[in-house]
Amino acid sequence: MSTYLIKCDICEKDIITQHCNTKYCLDCKKSMRKKQQVAAHKKYEEKANQEYEENIIIIRNSNARISAIAAEARKAGLTYGKYVASLREVTQ
Ligand SMILES: [Zn+2]
Repeated sequence: MSTYLIKCDICEKDIITQHCNTKYCLDCKKSMRKKQQVAAHKKYEEKANQEYEENIIIIRNSNARISAIAAEARKAGLTYGKYVASLREVTQ
């Protein structure tokens, strides 16, 4: 088994390793992993927040559409259901 003498990419400490693809010393590897986990968690939270915002917008838009239709229905003297049904009849 061969060993390699490598400098850590972060702290430039000499590392003796058996893997030529090693880039970081053990300490930096640990802190890198932690940073990656934090970053991954942050990314996940950002994505979840974004999806939440998007859902809120979709819900708001559909609520706005429903109340707009309901207002139209009231103007036409129909219930919401009858109005929507009459719309469907027209478009079919
Ligand atoms: Zn290091």
